[in-house]
Amino acid sequence: MNNKHPASGFSTRAIHHGYDPKDHHGALVPPIYLSATFAFPTAEYGAACFAGEASGHFYTRISNPTLALLETRMASLENGEAAVAFSSGMGAIAATFWTLLRPGDEIIVSQTLYGCTFALLHHGIGEFGIQVRHVDLTDLAALQAALSPATRMIYCETPANPNLRLIDIAAVAELAHRQPNITLVVDNTYCTPYLQRPLELGADVVVHSATKYLSGHGDITAGIAVSSYALAQRIRLQGLKDLTGAVMSPQDASLLMRGLKTLALRMDRHCSSAQAVAEALQAHPAVQWVTYPGLRSFPQYELAKRQMKLPGGMIAFELKGGIEMGRRFMNALRLFTRAVSLGDAESLAQHPASMTHSTYTPEERAQHGISEGLVRLSVGLEDVADLLADVHQALAKCSRPSVRRAATAAHVLR
Ligand SMILES: *Cc1c(COP(=O)(O)O)cnc(C)c1O
Repeated sequence: MNNKHPASGFSTRAIHHGYDPKDHHGALVPPIYLSATFAFPTAEYGAACFAGEASGHFYTRISNPTLALLETRMASLENGEAAVAFSSGMGAIAATFWTLLRPGDEIIVSQTLYGCTFALLHHGIGEFGIQVRHVDLTDLAALQAALSPATRMIYCETPANPNLRLIDIAAVAELAHRQPNITLVVDNTYCTPYLQRPLELGADVVVHSATKYLSGHGDITAGIAVSSYALAQRIRLQGLKDLTGAVMSPQDASLLMRGLKTLALRMDRHCSSAQAVAEALQAHPAVQWVTYPGLRSFPQYELAKRQMKLPGGMIAFELKGGIEMGRRFMNALRLFTRAVSLGDAESLAQHPASMTHSTYTPEERAQHGISEGLVRLSVGLEDVADLLADVHQALAKCSRPSVRRAATAAHVLR
């Protein structure tokens, strides 16, 4: 595959890496190979493909030219050797777990995780003889104490969904790799490689829900795993091919590559607007607390500056009055859409305890640092003035009882 821009900048690679129109009738946009199966020139060549001795495409669940282009591009952006595309983030995560863990192994995971990852651990692999241990990975002494000869994987999100807690990837990698056979896997969904590249900090595998910022337009579900060539081969030939079958469609790969072309531009805008929204929330008397890595009050502000290029587009906050007030805020929003997911052009608001993180029991949420009143915002690409106006008008309904009563009365009259 053509790599005529190997040393280029991030956006140049996001647009060009691995593709030359010259090889495709001059087509500026890479063609979509819909074919599920691929012809063998000879019976011997087909046999060699199946034996892993020839590298041609033979069946799309294992490889496909459109998926291969996306994969090489994602590997370049994450600075890994190889990538594997999946039909969803959960597909990528499940395939990575099922490939690299066996009964009797231990996986150490951070305290706060995306709800379905938490469910996969506790209601999936945890019920197949794999020991799941939650450890506060911001506490390196706790991690050191938790490591055992059976530890095979350390898994974390940073920032974590939904409370934005950070993990120092370089520090965890250093500890993990003092022991042989431990794979450090980082879910980089919140950052994308534009903001943070875990492999450069010592992680072994990066997984993504490419449904979010990477595609950026809310019109596909997709996942990616990036790693060394050897690990990617295992994840492809076991996790993807046999254990999950969670293959991405070539059409979705094309949409994802379209999204990647504007990734850097979009992330810059998500981050600057989120900073403004976070500052507005912090300054408002109705707000109990705001968590955003770009605020000086963020407990891990220095780590955020060191590890992330910019603070991201996600905000977590709680209003005085907890979940009741949070619901009122959400229902008052006019421009922000009430919806789960994140990283879209549209700004989104959701309530993790009753939505994305309802896979936890209330006790588990308390234990894992997910407050019941936490509201999660994904700040989109609309004009920041309009976003601020929406947040201010919704906050006004949460802080002044007289206004609230007047609004209710007006509603009743209508
Ligand atoms: C959404 C999400 C996932 C799951 O990805 P899907 O594409 O929805 O399967 C995993 N991790 C994080 C951090 C997410 O936000």
